[in-house]
Amino acid sequence: DEHDRDNTKGETGPDVNFEQLRLRSRQKYLSEREKKEMVLLRGELKDFERDIEKLGWGNMSEQERHEYEIKKEILSIFDRRSRLEEEEERGGGSFLIEDDYVNEEGRIDTKRKGDVLTGKNRRMQFLLDEEHGKKHNRLKQLSHFTNLKKNDKQHEEKTYDYVFDQAQAVDFTGGDEEDDADSKLTADEKALWEKIRREEERVKTIEDTRKSLPVFQYRDQLIEAVKKYPVLIVVGQTGSGKTTQLPQYLYEAGFDKGPLGKEVARKDGQKFKIGCTQPRRVAATAVASRVSDEVGTRVGDRVGYSIRFDDRTSEKTVIKYMTDGMLLREFMSDPDLSEYSVMMVDEAHERTLHTDILLGLLKELSSERPEFRLLISSATMDSEKFSAYFNDAPIFNVPGRRFPVSIHYTMQPEANYLHAATTTVFQIHFSQKEGDILVFLTGQDEIETMAANLRATCEKLAGQMERQLIVCPIYANLPQEQQKLIFMKTPANARKVVLATNIAETSLTIDGIANVIDCGFVKEDRYSPVTGIQSLAVVPCSRASADQRAGRAGRTGPGKCFRLYTRWSYMNEMAATPTPEILRTNLSGVVLQMESLGITDLLHFDFLDSPSPEALIKALEQLYSLGALNEKGELTWTGAKMAELPCDPMLARCLLASSSLNCCTEVVSVISMLEESNSIFSGRTSRKAGENPSAQPSAATSAEKFRTRADARLGGDHLTLLEIWNQFATNGFSPQWCRDNFIQYRAMNRARNVRNQLARLCRKMNLYGEEEIEEQNGADSMIRMESMSRDERDRLKVRIMKSFARGFFANAAKLSRSGDYYQTLKKHQPVYVHPSSALFRMVPPPKYVIYNELMLTSKEFMRNCMPVSERWLGEYAPHYYRSSG
Ligand code: ADP
Ligand code: MG
Repeated sequence: DEHDRDNTKGETGPDVNFEQLRLRSRQKYLSEREKKEMVLLRGELKDFERDIEKLGWGNMSEQERHEYEIKKEILSIFDRRSRLEEEEERGGGSFLIEDDYVNEEGRIDTKRKGDVLTGKNRRMQFLLDEEHGKKHNRLKQLSHFTNLKKNDKQHEEKTYDYVFDQAQAVDFTGGDEEDDADSKLTADEKALWEKIRREEERVKTIEDTRKSLPVFQYRDQLIEAVKKYPVLIVVGQTGSGKTTQLPQYLYEAGFDKGPLGKEVARKDGQKFKIGCTQPRRVAATAVASRVSDEVGTRVGDRVGYSIRFDDRTSEKTVIKYMTDGMLLREFMSDPDLSEYSVMMVDEAHERTLHTDILLGLLKELSSERPEFRLLISSATMDSEKFSAYFNDAPIFNVPGRRFPVSIHYTMQPEANYLHAATTTVFQIHFSQKEGDILVFLTGQDEIETMAANLRATCEKLAGQMERQLIVCPIYANLPQEQQKLIFMKTPANARKVVLATNIAETSLTIDGIANVIDCGFVKEDRYSPVTGIQSLAVVPCSRASADQRAGRAGRTGPGKCFRLYTRWSYMNEMAATPTPEILRTNLSGVVLQMESLGITDLLHFDFLDSPSPEALIKALEQLYSLGALNEKGELTWTGAKMAELPCDPMLARCLLASSSLNCCTEVVSVISMLEESNSIFSGRTSRKAGENPSAQPSAATSAEKFRTRADARLGGDHLTLLEIWNQFATNGFSPQWCRDNFIQYRAMNRARNVRNQLARLCRKMNLYGEEEIEEQNGADSMIRMESMSRDERDRLKVRIMKSFARGFFANAAKLSRSGDYYQTLKKHQPVYVHPSSALFRMVPPPKYVIYNELMLTSKEFMRNCMPVSERWLGEYAPHYYRSSG
């Protein structure tokens, strides 16, 4: 075992990255001066408390009470930071994902969420100060308070000026280093660019915009090339019009009537489709909506999209945008893709797992269907590699124009890039006349947090701002109307700040961006074939990504890119290019899909980059242990059923298990809720910080209420999620119920949509047990549970838990002897219950748990855990645990 563990360490590898991560995410330590301030504050508060005791709270003046509360809050900020420092010294927690915010009760809480930072609470100032690390400014305000108390009452209503403190600005290098060879502009070129810019401003209508795109000049040549070559690689800078225009050109050239634009009726008399894949859901929907506008129809009409759990196509649809994962599913029902005359694999440089598999399948298809046309489109990178892979397919280069972008690095590493990004936004806003800002962050959490910070700060600075700042977040879970905001033309006298993940790196092009702020990180799936452990981690992005991000500032004019890391980091800590997903992720899902497509010899499949044999074997092993493959490696009936379900093999296995255990209804609910589990509660409990949760009503206690139920003790997060779903359903899916319980209605509504679709599929596959009466509205599970006796209900709960144990036995962990952490059963890796879990600090802790996912922040945290019995594990996976004894 000892030996195993060492091995593992070498394999999981990026210890260095982890160290960097810790370094970057670390909160700043308390300075000596702050420590003194802390002592002083503590003393003052004691005095205060003595007064309060003597005079009574009610007899204190309004001001005094206010001051007391503020001082208390500052102290708690100090306290928290010194705790962090202690933890750091112990080698433990620095929390990148968690952050602080003031909840509705005006208390410091962990994890900031967008909608709790509103309100005109003056105390917010201190929080904002914290945001910018402006401790002296905070103290200035404090002394202001003291003055106020001494002076006349007139000032009571005065709010404080919040000043953007230049001294606290983030220091960047001078931008001496310019981006490209084209950085040194001659006067002629400058004039030309100016002309182009004016020209671009002139074109306003859609038709003009279409004609103004770089691909337009090559329209006819492109169509000719597609007709001539079965496979064509199209390379062009982001924003040149590949995604929105090429499918339209092919449609206009008659590719819907037949392959190669010749009229041929399809067997069923339908028209042919022109397909285009996207690695991301947001891109598929946004582009479909844009192209619908350009074509002049509604989404789902002539132009449609298809993403998991959301299909917006109809019989009329000829241009179809879809995620690469969806096309992979279509391959299963129609291996010839006979509906399509041409397929464009877009953003191929992203090298997602699904894209890589598709390339292999399409390569084969294109040799079997000579009239079928394949376009591989990519932003400049890696085009030679694609060409070589497709037997030297020709590369069509769409020359793009790009203005120079000056790059600015920070002088020192930034302790917290969210804070630094916020500060930088205002630095730009106050120092530059025009140009929108694009900020690259790693995920929805960060985007929401930063959006809230920006809005709150704007409110404070409103008096000083010449122009308004419009904050536009974008991520997949945002409602579509709000996603569209990022594309709106910025009104005169305003500036737009778009907060995005690497979706805006190449997939989406936003016009008018002149400034890019790049945090330098990306959220990635990491998987170790040796341990079989997969986890999500925030890691430094690649230099190629960073350059791509920078380039977004130079589309409509010369731009600036602010990198929230040092030039040294760029040179030394970032990899040159990103690792293709296929080389770093768990392959069991695609292996199952490939098996069901009849591709059994995976070791010899023609991959663009072959995954390691170990990773493939691990995937096969996992599928075997789930019962999807037999000893000979052949797909079983169970495996075939699992492949039909649009979820991870482990979840698919749970669904099948639930079918034989007569609890499909409930398991469908839990699975739908698991997807949203991070966004259900509008706030987070601060149990991590060791505070007493009962002192914090609202979201925290609501979460607490659900998490401390008897159900939670029995069935951990899974049954807790079920309970929340059931109550939501019994209360008629009411937004009011959500508000009353501090639950995010939007997240619940998304879960409801997913549930409807999954339930429909399960009905189609006959997964519902005889006892189960499934109704469309989803309230059924509640009704079912309510009509049961307590005993029956408990038995049902156990069956639900068993279903999950059946799918997730590989994610089992055993309580360590000391009782403060768990060890994975298979490799004895230490893992911890995530503070958001119902099982966090449960007494006594369950001996065995299974977890839904691992999340790497300061430690490996298990998210969404459920207690299981050792017996189940032995029963479901004897072969799996045999070796570990
Ligand atoms: P590429 O795929 O080559 O990166 P696109 O076809 O995505 O380029 O974009 C071409 C242009 O179309 C962009 O520069 C932008 O002006 C416009 N555009 C794309 N998507 C949208 C949208 N959803 N809303 C408004 N304009 C868009
Ligand atoms: Mg594109």
